[in-house]
Amino acid sequence: MTYIDAHCHLLDISEFKLARTAGVDSIICNAINPKDWHQVLALENVIHAIGIHPWHVSDLPENAMTDLEKLLEQNPGAHIGEIGLDKCKGDFYKQEEIFMLQLELAQKLQRPVHVHCVRAWGEMLPILKGHKDLKYLFHGFSGDKNVVRFLSDYDAYFSVNRATKIPLIPADKLLIESDAPDGLPSPANLPFLYLQLGVQSAQIEQNFQRFLNGR
Ligand SMILES: [Zn+2]
Repeated sequence: MTYIDAHCHLLDISEFKLARTAGVDSIICNAINPKDWHQVLALENVIHAIGIHPWHVSDLPENAMTDLEKLLEQNPGAHIGEIGLDKCKGDFYKQEEIFMLQLELAQKLQRPVHVHCVRAWGEMLPILKGHKDLKYLFHGFSGDKNVVRFLSDYDAYFSVNRATKIPLIPADKLLIESDAPDGLPSPANLPFLYLQLGVQSAQIEQNFQRFLNGR
């Protein structure tokens, strides 16, 4: 059995080693602000995502967006994440501006995006209408069945680490995440989580390959 961590923030190499030993084959590691872009990109044997998280839009260096574009060009395998909107924390107006800029960059460079959305689906969905041809991973999915229906003709995947939203998510769009160290302490907990959630590792693996390589 192999396990996949569709979303985490770990920077600790010893945790990755533990995860491999536990059978976690693939890990997507997301940066949250310019300070950790280089650290994330330096990690070996993980899929990198760099971006500006909605909680970190207010204290950005002036050239953050040009730096992000340069780094993405230098790292053709890197995704864009974690980006998004969050009504519970931070300057929402600025969040929308930075989120839209990052979607435009994703469009320009043709990169998948890893999205955080908390209590902001009403604002998020109209923005996504302008970016229908991107590949999305909605992490820690918090939407309802209307959101899933809206996204049904998007190339969108949903990752969770709790059971509550799984019945809403199409089986071929489901991914599992540790969100370590904020969610689960480590991706090494994933084998137990798969069991707890009753998900099939072969199905998750197929979904993940489609997320990375296909449509
Ligand atoms: Zn996250």
